[in-house]
Amino acid sequence: MTYVYRFGGGVSDGGKGDKNLLGGKGANLAEMASIGLPVPPGFTISTEMCTRYYEEGEQFPQELRDEVAAGIAHIEAVTEKRFGDPANPLLVSVRSGARVSMPGMMDTVLNLGLNDDTVEGLAKAADDERFAWDSYRRFIQMYADVVLELDHGAFEEALEIAKEDNGFTLDTEMSAADWKALVAQYKALVEEQWGKPFPQDVHDQLWGAVGAVFGSWQSERAKVYRRLNDIPANWGTAVNVQAMVFGNMGDTSATGVAFTRDPSKGDRAYYGEFLINAQGEDVVAGIRTPQYLTKAAREEAGAKPASMEEAMPEVYRELAAVFDQLETHYRDMQDIEFTVEQAKLWMLQTRSGKRTAKAALKIAVDMANEGLITREEAIARVDPAALDQLLHPTLDPEAKRDVLTKGLPASPGAASGKVVFDADTAEKRAAAGESVILVRVETSPEDIHGMHAAKGILTARGGMTSHAAVVARGMGRPCVSGAGSLAISAKDKVLRCAGREVREGDTLTIDGASGEVMVGEVATVQPELAGDFGTLMEWADAVRRLKVRANAETPLDCKTAREFGAEGVGLCRTEHMFFEADRITAVRQMILASDEQGRRVALDRLLPEQRSDFTAIFEVMAGLPVTVRLLDPPLHEFLPHEEAEFAEVAQAAGLDIDTLKRRANELHEFNPMLGHRGCRLGVTYPEIYEMQARAIFEAAIDVAEKSGEAPIPEVMIPLVATRRELELMKAVVDKAAKLVFAERGREVDYLVGTMIELPRAALKAGEIAEVGEFFSFGTNDLTQTTLGVSRDDAARFLSTYVEQGIYAKDPFVSLDVEGVGELVSLAAERGRATRGDIKLGICGEHGGDPASIAFCEQVGLDYVSASPYRVPIARLAAAQAAL
Ligand code: ADP
Ligand code: MG
Ligand code: MG
Repeated sequence: MTYVYRFGGGVSDGGKGDKNLLGGKGANLAEMASIGLPVPPGFTISTEMCTRYYEEGEQFPQELRDEVAAGIAHIEAVTEKRFGDPANPLLVSVRSGARVSMPGMMDTVLNLGLNDDTVEGLAKAADDERFAWDSYRRFIQMYADVVLELDHGAFEEALEIAKEDNGFTLDTEMSAADWKALVAQYKALVEEQWGKPFPQDVHDQLWGAVGAVFGSWQSERAKVYRRLNDIPANWGTAVNVQAMVFGNMGDTSATGVAFTRDPSKGDRAYYGEFLINAQGEDVVAGIRTPQYLTKAAREEAGAKPASMEEAMPEVYRELAAVFDQLETHYRDMQDIEFTVEQAKLWMLQTRSGKRTAKAALKIAVDMANEGLITREEAIARVDPAALDQLLHPTLDPEAKRDVLTKGLPASPGAASGKVVFDADTAEKRAAAGESVILVRVETSPEDIHGMHAAKGILTARGGMTSHAAVVARGMGRPCVSGAGSLAISAKDKVLRCAGREVREGDTLTIDGASGEVMVGEVATVQPELAGDFGTLMEWADAVRRLKVRANAETPLDCKTAREFGAEGVGLCRTEHMFFEADRITAVRQMILASDEQGRRVALDRLLPEQRSDFTAIFEVMAGLPVTVRLLDPPLHEFLPHEEAEFAEVAQAAGLDIDTLKRRANELHEFNPMLGHRGCRLGVTYPEIYEMQARAIFEAAIDVAEKSGEAPIPEVMIPLVATRRELELMKAVVDKAAKLVFAERGREVDYLVGTMIELPRAALKAGEIAEVGEFFSFGTNDLTQTTLGVSRDDAARFLSTYVEQGIYAKDPFVSLDVEGVGELVSLAAERGRATRGDIKLGICGEHGGDPASIAFCEQVGLDYVSASPYRVPIARLAAAQAAL
């Protein structure tokens, strides 16, 4: 067969290697069946069919109809039931499954194959009328929602009213007759809303459902998810058709979801939730509060209802053995869905489990230590970008907390922000720069954009495997779920709890590690970097070739960077030092001076300040290289604006205000980014770079004398386009070094090099390397100048560019490898041809981006430099690039 792949009953047409073709769910169902696990028989319609379906105007080819008939025959043979046969009906589920799991994106239809005749047959076959009619009402409701896309509110309401009329609170209290009556109402609702009676032909039902699964691939919410996760639209989804097994056949039946290890903390303990006498989505939908899987977890939570380990000890033991088998087989933590039908265990899904960064680290390190995977695999398993979650502050344990309530610790991290009650407001307020906490009764896929925009997510309903919890963990957002004591009114934009009211715009803090919800903002503390984090970093350091430095210009940044493992400073910008309040007047005096003499007076004032800046940095970085970039920004940026500022400068310089204003006017630039900046400042006013170089060497010698260990200054000349510019500036620096060394009777090692941030410099790198001892690729400016795009003005059109596929990603976040990357590799090659041992690094924003780091490894740069908090990310990414 071309499009249909069978599984179960001793057959597996596919396997775990076929994810692209069968989707994750289908491939793993086939794999589980092939290793002897109990999987209800079924078949998978491949993703290729989904693509063809859209190419052919949403039609099913005859070929597919024939193959599906054969697939159904396979299920019938294994189950000894017949699809549509009132005497012995086969029911199936129709399940979507893309290559990568898209939680909640695609809709599943259960109990398909029921109609007015087969429901009677099912009741007889199972000897359970209530179960049959319960299944039928579930089927009609799901089918009406997912396939017919009718308003599901009316169905829910009908059920609520039916329960109320009977004085019931739980679905389980409904009798066969009650369900039967509800089914009649449901069918009437379908006819009223859809205009046609509920489809009684089981084949019509099946094709409707298959079409709906394909259709959901192009739903708005699926598109949003794909956009946020870089999933191409042409992957398509597979459809799985599988014999139903029933968790709603009484108290020996159940359904559940589980992880083979704790997905939040990573501990080696089975972890999950289940519900007795329930079907499929009841667990995730939060209709009833699920029970714990293990006795230990139940006791730890202080919960009453029996765990599965206690309620069904035999099946539980069987399930635990399956967990172990799956972990060993897949060599990774698994996320599992199962159903127990009258004490018989059935496996319905397995996949590599989503986990928090903390759990990812722990699981990777543990599994390597257990010998299940190698250290290299452990390194490869942790997403560098996800480390971000661990590198940011958590709640200060000492800080005062005004605890409002407690929910489940669904996704770790702490977040404070203004409360909003809907996703659109979350997005709007976040776009306006506010931190928001999205508060919902429970979340659904329609909320994804708001969850993305929010700093944290809080829900009143749903367990650790609810939509909110799963999605938040995937996005790295802190989340507290199932805070049951919250009464939320999204309509009135207010939540009530413990006699208090919180309105939209009020501040709440959530702690996703403890589940606490607090009123107001709570102070945070820096993360702990020992333990598993330290171990994995050690392993990463052992395999990586690229060095990792930090972009840092304050002693505090340098300290943070060293704690995070930076091996030097790759970019120390000197301009921020010039902007400091107590210096800006001297700086303005310098730039507004009309001659060298006037500039020197001001520079003499700045020298000791600048020296102390460098001393403080060098003390922290003693023994390590520190790349100091000489003054770079347009003078323009330092000009005074206010009358008072002019007055201050006038007084300091002993000039009159009008002269100053005239001078400031002369300095005005139309396009400062391409104006009087970078080495052009040094060429026109060499005394500025002279002062900075002197400050660097004096500070280096001071530190060497005091601590016995000298830093290695790498003096970097910005915005060089030609060899001659660098030659002139290097002479200024070398002269300052010579003078200082003579005065102090002591020398330090140093290098003089340049940033490569203009296309001309990249092209002429061979020549420039005759003078420069190192290159640092300033990929922020190099991207701007190569693309001719101003980073500050790009926001207006760049997202459209990315949507249209003009650039695959924002080129300021992830290096445009094809274009800018070609200049980088060409400059590296030409530079090396001239000077074999030239030191090469990158100091743009890209130095902390894993994809860009992989490129740096490929062209053989010596180091990457990233902001201090991204140093661990860069270390791990560099290790992965080297594997
Ligand atoms: P999702 O991708 O949203 O998890 P699934 O296709 O896994 O959707 O279906 C959701 C749930 O429906 C499953 O976890 C399972 O409990 C139930 N389910 C699906 N197929 C069957 C089946 N053949 N028999 C019993 N339950 C099923
Ligand atoms: Mg599932
Ligand atoms: Mg620059």
